[in-house]
Amino acid sequence: MPSTPVPPRSEIKPEHTWNAASVFASDAAWEAELKSVLAKLSELDKYRGHLSGGAATLAGARVLIDELILRAGKVYVYANMAHQVDTTNQAASKMYSRALGLFGQVAAAAAFFDPELLAIGQAKLQQWLRDEPRLADMGHYVDDLFRRHAHVRSAEVEELLGLLTDPFQSVMTTAGVLTDADFKFRPAKASDGRETPVTQGNIDELLAETDREARRTAWESYNDAYLAFKNTLANNLATSVKQNVFNMRARRHRSTLEAALFANNIPVDVFHNLIRTYRANLPTWHRYWRIRRKALGLETLHPYDIWAPLTADKPRIPYKQSVDWICDGLAPLGKDYVRVVRKACLEDRWVDVYPNQGKAGGAFSSGRPGTPPFILMSYDDTIFSLSTLAHELGHSMHSYLTWQTQPILYGEYSMFVAEVASNFHQAMVRAHLLKQQADPAFQISLIEEAIANFHRYFFVMPTLARFELETHARMERGEGLTADDMNALMADLFAEAYGGEVHVDRERVGITWATFGHLYVDYYVFQYATGISGAHALAHRLLSGVPDAAMDYLNFLKAGGSLYPLEALKLAGVDLTTPHAVEAAFNVLSGMVDKLEALLGR
Ligand SMILES: [Zn+2]
Repeated sequence: MPSTPVPPRSEIKPEHTWNAASVFASDAAWEAELKSVLAKLSELDKYRGHLSGGAATLAGARVLIDELILRAGKVYVYANMAHQVDTTNQAASKMYSRALGLFGQVAAAAAFFDPELLAIGQAKLQQWLRDEPRLADMGHYVDDLFRRHAHVRSAEVEELLGLLTDPFQSVMTTAGVLTDADFKFRPAKASDGRETPVTQGNIDELLAETDREARRTAWESYNDAYLAFKNTLANNLATSVKQNVFNMRARRHRSTLEAALFANNIPVDVFHNLIRTYRANLPTWHRYWRIRRKALGLETLHPYDIWAPLTADKPRIPYKQSVDWICDGLAPLGKDYVRVVRKACLEDRWVDVYPNQGKAGGAFSSGRPGTPPFILMSYDDTIFSLSTLAHELGHSMHSYLTWQTQPILYGEYSMFVAEVASNFHQAMVRAHLLKQQADPAFQISLIEEAIANFHRYFFVMPTLARFELETHARMERGEGLTADDMNALMADLFAEAYGGEVHVDRERVGITWATFGHLYVDYYVFQYATGISGAHALAHRLLSGVPDAAMDYLNFLKAGGSLYPLEALKLAGVDLTTPHAVEAAFNVLSGMVDKLEALLGR
């Protein structure tokens, strides 16, 4: 594939870069602030050990801690962005590690706060919250603290558990080091004999090649490298599962699932409901595989045909055009919302738009109260870039409205609600473009983008979640977990999900678990599927004209971390304990499959 050379950072026009000066005027100003925050840490000494002294003392400590967190956050954002936009910049990378250090020091200096609150006791605290206006908004924080306390052990046990966090991390890094640094892949070989090296960085691109031989050889090479180390990788993942079982027992939970969901106060029914509804709707996926197979003119669809392009006629979408379309799609949320988005993208420089040498890959939204919620991406004029921009803007608007509304205490929200806001943007923009852009080639590209997204988050992720549930259940029962056990389980789960419409090479499909580092964070991936579900249920609510749907949605964004995730989502109008949201996402997917079938049948 011909590709234009990536320019050095110095050649990127300032208007396409993040607005560093909106955080600090200069590196010198950043340096001065870092030192000033460090110097102020000692002011916490007068509060440490004295919070039980009364509501006024507690309020004083809270105000000081909020200030320190706010200021350290700005120091962190400035350094993090400088580092991410050019990871080869040594000065920025040094600033980044110093900022991380500062954050750690603030956290350590403020660590007395929660244990002292617990020692004061819930009844007395609640009285203080009523008496002292500077504490009035702490109700949810206190409630959550005492809720979690039910699974906190003695100080001595807690100290040991804390010390285990770092050594327990190594299994995840070991997998990363092995597969990112040490793996060598056979080159992919196209039908004309042309060879392309396979890397972690280009595998997705190779799997989307038009040449089937290139796709097949890339897919086989990729999975074969993992298969060659299946025993090591399986042992490593089994160790991670054992650690989760250990943590569950240490914290007195009934299952690893319950232990993992406890942090966000999410009932296990939400997980089971997702899986149940997902399985019941698998025929929608089976129908899609059939349509895809016919469109590609294949006798048998293989996993390496899942990303094969269905049209050669791809739209080119310049950045400004994307911004316009995203704003049009978000219009139902109201003029104020859209004005903020447009200005963020075109004037306020929230977005570091284009790729440059040394820029971190992927895309993310990142910021802290007191800074804009910046976005880093590598915009490349494709419909995938448009969708990525819409997604990250969903995160950024969530942060923006949270930080405008909530105190620092509730400035962070969980991944469980985060992926609703980001996917909601994508759902709204796709629905708008499907209606507005009549060109069939454009529509096919749009549906391809949407279904590729659904495939990852609404097909692969729930399948991995089922794998996770079963591997943990076996470990909880004291059964072993070998590479062959894992591969057989994964192959069975994919065979059910493919429904006979996609060929299952049991070894190469069975090793899929090893290719997702996400599995080292227990019960993480299901949240992508609940996120996409909640998002489509809420988009449907807005697009079908439910009264106050826009206001409800904005109230959800503004809630930030001031409510438990399920409560915040109920504010928006969706209840993830019922099958409704998952069904809503399947309805949208099913509608797209219908439309694709009609477009391809022309
Ligand atoms: Zn996201």
